[in-house]
Amino acid sequence: MKQTIVFATGNAHKLQEINEIAQGTDIEFILPPEGFNPIENGETFEENSLIKAREAARVSGMISLADDSGLCVEALGGAPGIHSARYAQTAQARIDKLLGVLQNEKNRKAKFVCAMTLVDKDGNILFQTRGECHGEIAYKQSGTHGFGYDPVFLVAEGKRTMAEMSEDEKNEISHRGRALRKVLEYLNND
Ligand code: IMP
Repeated sequence: MKQTIVFATGNAHKLQEINEIAQGTDIEFILPPEGFNPIENGETFEENSLIKAREAARVSGMISLADDSGLCVEALGGAPGIHSARYAQTAQARIDKLLGVLQNEKNRKAKFVCAMTLVDKDGNILFQTRGECHGEIAYKQSGTHGFGYDPVFLVAEGKRTMAEMSEDEKNEISHRGRALRKVLEYLNND
């Protein structure tokens, strides 16, 4: 029988992504019930993932997993970092802003970071981990897959953006894929 775990997000795309990574395991992730409203005021990816996981456990009364992720650009001192989702109003505006501030910047190094925290139904931490994916910011966007900053993130392994990769290819190397596989390993050995 499948073990059901609440995944603390309101983003259906993210839920789909992590269920694809978990395919072939006994674990299935579901969205939190109504009332899920985390206040993400932590100062690190880890703190924010804990806040979200505890909020999901509070509203569901179930074991819950949360991620907190973002893009860290070396030349910008790690920005937008934990503020990635709020860097500008829309996904396209966020990409335009990033390409604009990096227009004359030669150091394009960047990484996607994903912290994950698993809590029990009472909000106690069971496991916490982090996955990273290193690459560079492109000079212009390309590709239509994925979401967020994918069209401007060139992965280190090749010279394609994440938005030019299939979902399977992205999951293999992505920050979220790397973090989630460690969580699944923890759950399978539990
Ligand atoms: P949160 O983890 O939902 O708080 O938001 C993280 C934000 O970082 C997203 O809204 C995206 O802008 C960005 N982000 C996180 N993961 C990815 C990814 O896999 N591709 C592109 N952008 C991402």
